[in-house]
Amino acid sequence: MPDVYLALGSNLGDKRSNLVEAIRRIGAFATVKSVSSFHETDPVGFLDQDRFLNAAVRVSTDLTPQDFLARLLAVEVAMGRVRTIPNGPRTLDLDILLWDSRVIDEPGLVVPHPRMHQRFFVLDPLSEIAPQALHPVLGRTVAQLRDSLLNTLP
Ligand code: ADP
Ligand code: MG
Repeated sequence: MPDVYLALGSNLGDKRSNLVEAIRRIGAFATVKSVSSFHETDPVGFLDQDRFLNAAVRVSTDLTPQDFLARLLAVEVAMGRVRTIPNGPRTLDLDILLWDSRVIDEPGLVVPHPRMHQRFFVLDPLSEIAPQALHPVLGRTVAQLRDSLLNTLP
């Protein structure tokens, strides 16, 4: 089964229990293999909102990427996510970062996630559980991407 890496984020309500509950729900349709620590991060883009709690997880699954994403979006909805402002507050955001070495570019599903390499709040937790995972488009490991982003931060 493929190694699949996900990003989780929450900045509304009880963030820690939102992430724990999301991981429990994902465990109903995939095998959760590892979970990073939870990182408190500052919002990006839309700044007038609470800090986020972010994490990364590795799962394995028999589902197709499309079916798996549909399950993730259903978890977001079930946990009360309402889409309002882009990059705005959310009880739960679930993104597929990497799906083995696959490259997918379809309406509604782009893997590797197109902004993962620019987001420290994604790369930092991901590098805890998958430092050697290779980004199949950029040809660099997660640890390399994290470290080079760190060097460009103020
Ligand atoms: P963001 O996560 O960038 O803040 P949203 O969560 O609102 O934005 O965007 C969700 C939409 O992005 C979903 O409806 C989904 O179809 C699309 N999408 C495309 N690629 C991915 C991916 N790799 N993981 C999650 N959603 C994706
Ligand atoms: Mg999302």
